[in-house]
Amino acid sequence: MVTPPPPAQGRRGAHRPRPSALHHQQFRRQRPVKISCPHCADRAITRTSKRPAPVFYEVYAQCINPDCGWAGKLHIEFATTTAPSRKPNAAVRIPIEPASRRVLLEQLTAQHS
Ligand SMILES: [Zn+2]
Repeated sequence: MVTPPPPAQGRRGAHRPRPSALHHQQFRRQRPVKISCPHCADRAITRTSKRPAPVFYEVYAQCINPDCGWAGKLHIEFATTTAPSRKPNAAVRIPIEPASRRVLLEQLTAQHS
């Protein structure tokens, strides 16, 4: 009986995570935001949302506790930029955080010198 030769090292062996994939891994380790009811502190589920502007969401929330029953609307606003987009939208202006601005300026001056 002839055993077939071992498969050549293909894409699987050559795979290396791209820098962006590493970034996603770091991001995934952080917990997503949980919305809790402002009255009874039980969990609130978010239902539907409107987006009247690229930097603004309106989200409807409802408390899961039937003894409470609160429901309401949240405003979510993109307040500051901590890392600039590599695919910026010219219509979107989100101010850079002062601490991040210092780091970005240092990076810029380092590149030009
Ligand atoms: Zn509640």
